[in-house]
Amino acid sequence: MVQKNLIDGEWIAGSEAFRNINPSDTNDVVGEYARASAEDARAAIAAAKAAFPAWSRSGILERHAILRKTADEILARKDELGKLLSREEGKTLAEGIGETVRAGQIFDFFAGECLRLAGEVLPSARPNIGVEITREPVGVVGIITPWNFPIAIPAWKIAPALCYGNTVVFKPAELVPGSSWAIVDILHRAGLPKGVLNLVMGKGSVVGQAMLDSPDIHAITFTGSTGTGKRVALASVEHNRKYQLEMGGKNPFVVLDDADLNVAVEAAVNSAFFSTGQRCTASSRLIVTEGIHDRFVAAMGERMKGLVIDDALKAGTQIGPVVDESQLNQDTDYIAIGRQEGAKLAFGGELLKRDTPGFYLQPALFTEATNAMRISREEIFGPVASVIRVKDYDEALTVANDTPFGLSSGIATTSLKHATHFKRNAEAGMVMVNLPTAGVDFHVPFGGRKGSSHGSREQGRYAAEFYTTVKTAYTLA
Ligand code: ADP
Repeated sequence: MVQKNLIDGEWIAGSEAFRNINPSDTNDVVGEYARASAEDARAAIAAAKAAFPAWSRSGILERHAILRKTADEILARKDELGKLLSREEGKTLAEGIGETVRAGQIFDFFAGECLRLAGEVLPSARPNIGVEITREPVGVVGIITPWNFPIAIPAWKIAPALCYGNTVVFKPAELVPGSSWAIVDILHRAGLPKGVLNLVMGKGSVVGQAMLDSPDIHAITFTGSTGTGKRVALASVEHNRKYQLEMGGKNPFVVLDDADLNVAVEAAVNSAFFSTGQRCTASSRLIVTEGIHDRFVAAMGERMKGLVIDDALKAGTQIGPVVDESQLNQDTDYIAIGRQEGAKLAFGGELLKRDTPGFYLQPALFTEATNAMRISREEIFGPVASVIRVKDYDEALTVANDTPFGLSSGIATTSLKHATHFKRNAEAGMVMVNLPTAGVDFHVPFGGRKGSSHGSREQGRYAAEFYTTVKTAYTLA
């Protein structure tokens, strides 16, 4: 059965379909999904535009009930949806279920936010005049998402968009339509009026581009590559629309001489390799001071030997496959580039054979890397990390900040002085002390600086900045 797109409250088949393939076992077809055309995207935008006036004025209890019901169903089905996610994306079952729970928590959080919408009342500078400041929805929101968090990223964009009274056109990544289809189905059955949420699965160059080119989309929130992010930005400037971008990272993880070695190694392995290194908050630059360098590298090698890389759904797997062949080629290309640049491949990097045909790669650790090498400057988006040796904390901080990106930044240290200084001076949107660079809770702001992000933060109460627009109203008393 082909899973369809949702346009104006109807499930629409379209003329083409595409297959969703399991990267742990390429013989396993997860499902078939309708591929929307540019025409379908325009119909979805028109439906969202038509649905906006009524939805923007809908009662908070209606929105609360729908988001709450959605949260409850996602959480009740966490094992099944987590399995679907791991099957289509390749992260381990524990990670797939964890991400599904996070999506449920996000819907629950924004169900609550509907009930807490507040404004301000101020006296005017002139006598007998009152001023009200309120938040109103922006209009039709376009949501474009990547493949690496198939349920959490759609959730953290769709939930606030609907909570604050916007209507939505949602285009998930083509590689992982299953989780997106499932949450749209849940929201639809939870009672969303027709046209409020539209799903258009398909190609970025067709469906995504039709969204960028539409004058009827008032805001676009995008997570994906830097190149596509720039296109979103340029088109948004052209249409004078609001836009929010979450793009790449080249996140540093600093290890100081005074670090607890176990804490440092656990955080570094998690940052660099968990979720197969396919997180924009992953760390691929391990910046290590001289005094601990050799011990750290030896302990990393030992720890990496014990990692279980296998089918994402198998019990005991710690790292699943790479998402697809083209990403695998990108990873192995960068491993070759690192060697050519003179870094030493200290561990891993080879392709692995397992019981089923899949994109298995042994996580790779380079040593003797410099921050000027391409492997230290460009986002690889795979289980590939390099150790950069530095003299002391000051050099570590300079190297950590010497990157075009600024999403997340981590440090392993037992020094309060260095931890405090690092939190203040790391040029990143998120800073982690003695913790992996990835792993941001569902209720706190997520986002970065420099080349990583544009616009206001996602998640938590900060999401209101993007999904609402402020109105200042005067009344003569
Ligand atoms: P990734 O490397 O993570 O796949 P992309 O930026 O290619 O990054 O993809 C992120 C999302 O952007 C996907 O949903 C993709 O289909 C979409 N996309 C790709 N090209 C375009 C485009 N020209 N216009 C709009 N969306 C696009």
